Amino acid sequence: MRPIPEPFRIKMVEPIKRISRREREAALERAGYNLFLLRGEEVYIDLLTDSGTGAMSDYQWAGLMQGDEAYSGSRNFYNLKNAVKDIFGYNFTIPTHQGRGAEQVLFPILIKKPGQYVISNMHFDTTKAHVELAGGRAVNMVIEDAFDTEKYHPFKGDFDLEKLEAFINEQGAEKIAFIVITITCNSAGGQPVSMNNIRKVSEIAKKYNIRIFIDAARFAENAFFIKEREEGYADKSIKEIIKEMFSYVEGFTMSAKKDAIVNIGGLLGIKEDEELYNQACSRVVPMEGFVTYGGLAGRDMEALARGLYEGIDYQYLEYRIGHVKYLGERLREGGIPIQYPTGGHAVFVDAKKILPHIPYYQFPAQALANELYLDAGVRGVEIGSFLLGRDPDTGENLESPLELLRLTIPRRVYTYTHLDIVADGLINIKEKAGTLKGLEFTYEPKILRHFTARLRPVQ
Ligand SMILES: *Cc1c(COP(=O)(O)O)cnc(C)c1O
Repeated sequence: MRPIPEPFRIKMVEPIKRISRREREAALERAGYNLFLLRGEEVYIDLLTDSGTGAMSDYQWAGLMQGDEAYSGSRNFYNLKNAVKDIFGYNFTIPTHQGRGAEQVLFPILIKKPGQYVISNMHFDTTKAHVELAGGRAVNMVIEDAFDTEKYHPFKGDFDLEKLEAFINEQGAEKIAFIVITITCNSAGGQPVSMNNIRKVSEIAKKYNIRIFIDAARFAENAFFIKEREEGYADKSIKEIIKEMFSYVEGFTMSAKKDAIVNIGGLLGIKEDEELYNQACSRVVPMEGFVTYGGLAGRDMEALARGLYEGIDYQYLEYRIGHVKYLGERLREGGIPIQYPTGGHAVFVDAKKILPHIPYYQFPAQALANELYLDAGVRGVEIGSFLLGRDPDTGENLESPLELLRLTIPRRVYTYTHLDIVADGLINIKEKAGTLKGLEFTYEPKILRHFTARLRPVQ
């Protein structure tokens, strides 16, 4: 595919350097074969995450200089509030330090009794953690097609509506605390949710009188996919599509570190429910900060207000989605199996298909990630059995349905040439895939092991 040109030019750069293969081998050994334990400077192209790694524009940087650091009621807060009203149509805005800040403010208000369910297409990991911390139980209801990496489906993030309604009937509506629609569906590979599906889920919520929200981290990328792929939306503007998506729910939590292109920040948006807003206000003060700053500096709120508009610009989104797709297409042409079609923020490589000789308990996607680092200096991240951990009852390693290597693309940061290096690196590894070895623990922490565990290649 022909690259879609960048709708920006570069006027400040951060030099990056590729250290030698020998140095990378030493670094990886020192890091216990866990890429989280590398130093940033040991990485050439860093595709660990798209969270807080975007490049702000000159206009956003200028906004940092215009921070009005008033504890209460700074002008930057009002700029942010007006942006939310304009883009989403919502009356109430509460800033938070990042997405999980909004989750910890909102969820305990909604989960009224221990053991109540929260239903999502797929919960993000901190979202699930905050559901559980508030005494709830997180269940996922994404369509089955999301797990078939080869099968084309335009909206792999959709809810399975039959399953959703059957679950509500089986449990009884009073056992459901709320529904949260994750757009795009991060854990399924940045896959979008269709407008039709959002509308249908909201109709089910209304029918059973269940509260409904959006996890909005990648709201703009989702709107772009609706415009491109869903009948009836080609002629609608991104802003019109966003307004419609958010009209079907009563509020959102947002990590602004993704589509709003800031390095730190989050939002809680509430459409019109003043009582819910008041409840949230009394929680945000002790947890995040006063209601008009929520843990952010005035300058951060200004950059966020401006980033919300830059993130919904059609030309920017066309480039952004095209940039990620370019890497996906190059890999497919090179015979590398990926979650298809390519999602909004990352390419997910199917490591189980490339390394069938490495069993799940020796972490094939981690082995692939390590080899890509050694070969090309590129850091991706394992999303598979290494991340999943052990069964708390039996202590056995759990087997993930998919063993994925996620190549997450920061916004406005890397060029197409950088993506070529990533693609060439993986295509090169495919030729010698049979020689790659699995991994075993030398140190395994009890919880969230993937961040700090140490490994070694199986001999
Ligand atoms: C990143 C993310 C969050 C959490 O946001 P933070 O800003 O990292 O706290 C929640 N949901 C989704 C879908 C995310 O991608």
